[in-house]
Amino acid sequence: MKKKMSLPVQILIALAAGIAVGLICSATGLEGFTASYLKPFGDIFVNLLKFIVVPVVLLSMIDGILSMDDMKKVGNVGWKTVAYFLCTTAIACVIGLVFANVFNSMGVFPKLALEEGAVWDKATSANFMDTIKGIFPSNMWEAFRTANMLQVIVIALFLGGAIMAAGEKGKLCRDLVSSGYAVIEKLMNFIISLSPIGVFTMMAWVVATQGAAILGSLAWVLLCAYLGYIVHAVLVYSLSAQVFAGMSPAKFFKSAFPAMMFAFSSTSSAATLPVSKECADELGADGDISSFVLPLGSTINMDGTAIYQCVATIFLATCAGVSLSLGQMVTIVVTATLASIGTAGVSGAGMIMLAMVLTAMGIDVNLIMIIYGVDRLFDMGRTCLNVTGDIACSICVSKWEGKKAVKK
Ligand code: ASP
Repeated sequence: MKKKMSLPVQILIALAAGIAVGLICSATGLEGFTASYLKPFGDIFVNLLKFIVVPVVLLSMIDGILSMDDMKKVGNVGWKTVAYFLCTTAIACVIGLVFANVFNSMGVFPKLALEEGAVWDKATSANFMDTIKGIFPSNMWEAFRTANMLQVIVIALFLGGAIMAAGEKGKLCRDLVSSGYAVIEKLMNFIISLSPIGVFTMMAWVVATQGAAILGSLAWVLLCAYLGYIVHAVLVYSLSAQVFAGMSPAKFFKSAFPAMMFAFSSTSSAATLPVSKECADELGADGDISSFVLPLGSTINMDGTAIYQCVATIFLATCAGVSLSLGQMVTIVVTATLASIGTAGVSGAGMIMLAMVLTAMGIDVNLIMIIYGVDRLFDMGRTCLNVTGDIACSICVSKWEGKKAVKK
C-alpha cells in the first residue's frame, strides 16, 4: 500500500505550488482567474475557521476552568503554575508587540490594496469604559451570533464557574462540555487537514493579486515573529532558569533541546508531552510536579502562540491600512493572552485562535488569507517556544516547592 503523504509535506507542496501559480497568473495577467476560481476555495476555508471559532473558544475555556477543580487538589502548585503561565504569556505579548511595532515603523509591513475594505470599527470607536461595559453580554445567543469573542469568553468563565459551583448536580453539564469539546476537537482537526487546499488557493490568489513583493513582506513578518520567539526564550526562560531554579541557561537549553526539536518538527505541544516530560525530569524537576505542569502547560501555556498572534495582528492591521493606538495594543495583550490560553496544543490551532483576536479587535478575519499560506512556518517556532515554557515552569515550580519542603 502506498504511504499517505504527511500533512506538513502536503502543506509545503501546496505552498510552493500556490506561489508558482500566483507568479504565473500575475505575469500573464490572469489575476482575475485566481480571484474568481481559486479564492472562493480559500473563502470556504476561512468560513470554516469562523464557524468553528465560537464553539472552540466556548468549550475549551469551560473545559479549562473545570480542570481547575483538580488544581484545588494540588493547591499551591496549581496557583504558582498558573501565575507563572500568565505572567510569561503577558510578557510574550509585550515582546511580540514591541517587535511588530519596530518592524512596522521600519516600513517593512505593507499597506495592501484590498478590494473589500477591512472592517475596523469596534476598536477605533469605543473608549475604555465602553469596552469594559461591552464585554458583558445582555444576550447569550447574540454574543454567539455576532461572534463577539470577549463576550463569549465572559460567558465561558461564568458557565465554567457555575458548573463547578453546582458540584454533583452539575455533572451532566460537565460531561456535556467534555464530550462536546472532544467532538469539536475532531472537527477542528478535520478542518486543519484541509489546510493544503486553503494554503494553495490563498497563496496563489495573494501572490497573483499583490505581486511577488508580498513574498518579501511575508519573510519580514516571519523574521519578526522568530526574533520575538528567540528574545523571549533568551530573556524569560534563561532568567527563570537562572533566578528561580538556580540553573545555568546553557544547561537548561541543552537538556530541553530534544523536546524543542520534537516540538519544532511536530508542531504539537500535546504530541511532544512524553519528550518534554523526559527533558524536565532530566533537568531535575519533581516527577509529580512535572506530571501536573506539563499537561496543563500543553493546553493553556502558549507563549509562542501569543507572540505570533500579536505580530500577525499588527501586520494584518497594517495591511488593511490601520495604525493602532496604545489602548488598542493593551486590548491585544489581553485578548492574545486569553486566545493563547484557549489554543489547543495541536498543529495549526493558534491560527484558528488568531481569528478570535482579529474578531475581538474588529479586524476582518478574511485577512488571515494573507498569512495563512505560511502558517506552518510560524507554527514550528511557536510550538517550540510553547514547549520550552512548559519545561521552564516545571523546574521553577519544583524549585519553589522544594524550598518549602526544606523549610518545613
Ligand atoms: N501548534 C501549537 C502548539 O501545539 C499551537 C498553535 O498552533 O499555536 O503548541
